Amino acid sequence: MPARRPLRPAPRPGQPLLPRRVATLSVHTSPLDQPGAGDAGGMNVYIVEVSRRLAARGIAVEVFTRATSSDLPPVVEMVPGVTVRHVSAGPFEGLGKDDLPAQLCAFTAAVLREEARREPGFYDVLHSHYWLSGQVGWLARDRWGVPLVHSAHTLAKVKNAALAEGDSPEPRARVIGEEQVVAEADRLIANTAEEARQLVRWYDADPARTLVVPPGVDLDRFSPGDRAAARRAVGVRDDALVLLFVGRIQPLKAPDVLLHAAARMLADEPALRTRLQVLVVGAPSGSGLAEPRQLQELAVSLGIADVVRFVPPQAPDSLAEHYRAADVTVVPSHNESFGLVALEAQACGTPVVAAAVGGLPTAVEDGVSGVLVDGHDPADYAAAIRKVVEQRELLSAGARRHATRFSWDRTAGSLVDAYSAAMAEMAVPPLVRSPRDRVRDAVRALSASGVTR
Ligand code: UDP
Repeated sequence: MPARRPLRPAPRPGQPLLPRRVATLSVHTSPLDQPGAGDAGGMNVYIVEVSRRLAARGIAVEVFTRATSSDLPPVVEMVPGVTVRHVSAGPFEGLGKDDLPAQLCAFTAAVLREEARREPGFYDVLHSHYWLSGQVGWLARDRWGVPLVHSAHTLAKVKNAALAEGDSPEPRARVIGEEQVVAEADRLIANTAEEARQLVRWYDADPARTLVVPPGVDLDRFSPGDRAAARRAVGVRDDALVLLFVGRIQPLKAPDVLLHAAARMLADEPALRTRLQVLVVGAPSGSGLAEPRQLQELAVSLGIADVVRFVPPQAPDSLAEHYRAADVTVVPSHNESFGLVALEAQACGTPVVAAAVGGLPTAVEDGVSGVLVDGHDPADYAAAIRKVVEQRELLSAGARRHATRFSWDRTAGSLVDAYSAAMAEMAVPPLVRSPRDRVRDAVRALSASGVTR
């Protein structure tokens, strides 16, 4: 099979190579899915928001994702300029994330065939999300002669080092797969400086190709508002003390820590029972699917079932009302590569109590927009919640201020810079290319000559 595309000519001095079309790979979850359950969470929001902003800049985005139902049309226009392609790879239903490595060949073949129907050079860059997509992107990169930009979103080694008690570790095959993608990608996008350090330290990533691009928040949708009206909208009493958890329910997110903290607050101050309200928004996900009722059972066994309300995953506008209704949003995760929920809550003017792990110290400004807690002792969370409640007005202003430092438009702008730089690097004449790229060039040349056919 000949290579689909000759190397691009070098850009003229001072003129960046701008992508016209990005192939975004999101194998295991679709940007059209409702986040907050199963495999859909922050990554889905990231892809939706960034794709929209790229399209607004005139850069077309095609998102390839695995079809998980026979009802899905093969192609969906998400918004003008953003197309979602449902790829048939394996049975529609019944496959978990751990089954997907066996379907990567089928997925890759479908992606390559789609591109082969087009004129050569149709896509300018590949952006893969999560290691499964990175595996697909790595092959497509070499076939198409375009750079692979990769976002890991979470890393198995980091996750395994911070497991909740009794939680199952990520498999070794994932660790190996991630190492391969890190070695092959032209650019690695990290959410925070901490994630970039983890990539370098734990995965031997090339620091020169590892970029920090913070995610954003939709400041129009997630904005402060009338708290009393929000409480009416979500059905909470006006004088309630509302503690909010939002996210996929699984041990890694540690919603149990919030329940234990609430139980402790009630033990310390029994009169609080008449007005304490814990809202848990989301549905089981990942290893949480093994025992989907565990959290409800915990609430019963702690004797606080009367103050805890479980709310199914909410669309963004309703989610914003929940943030506005809350006194405090609590993010007690054992690990979090960033923590969009923390940022969205702050954008609504709600301070956050969060674990001081992963990206959360970036997402939350300790003492200004909320309080960071070391470890997962419920007593510390109860104390932090009390502290935030006492200073809520001050922290609320700090929360909104902090959130306004982030924007999806800036995220998209930094990604365009990363795409352009990677495209320019690929267009550099072979002699000044790195040894790794010279090997790839040789493979591509062989392929073009038909030797590998
Ligand atoms: N989310 C949502 N509805 C819900 C719960 C969560 O839309 O009911 C979204 C939320 O707005 C956030 C994302 O899911 O953007 C979760 O992202 P986060 O970074 O907090 O966690 P992740 O899912 O990436 O682990």
